[in-house]
Amino acid sequence: MQREVPLSPLRIIIIIILIYIAYRLIWGSRKSTPSVKGAKRKPQKEMPVSDTLQEDPVCKKLVPSRQAVQYEADGHTYYFCSQECCNTFRTRQGEQK
Ligand SMILES: [Zn+2]
Repeated sequence: MQREVPLSPLRIIIIIILIYIAYRLIWGSRKSTPSVKGAKRKPQKEMPVSDTLQEDPVCKKLVPSRQAVQYEADGHTYYFCSQECCNTFRTRQGEQK
């Protein structure tokens, strides 16, 4: 004998709240994880992640990662305030080798 359980509005609200809490937990833990990029990945989706400040290794300025000029070398991503700093860095790296 199966008794159909009607979805009362209260149940729906509880389910929505649970989904919301789960969502917040997932997003909260995502934010705390460091953004490590191994391979070149183009941002396909506009993620509502707040900018992280990255230090420009050339002029030591802090630049938001989204606006920064990115350069990947040796599996590490470097952030620069401008293309000029990036070029300077690449030239310096070339000299070291
Ligand atoms: Zn710079």
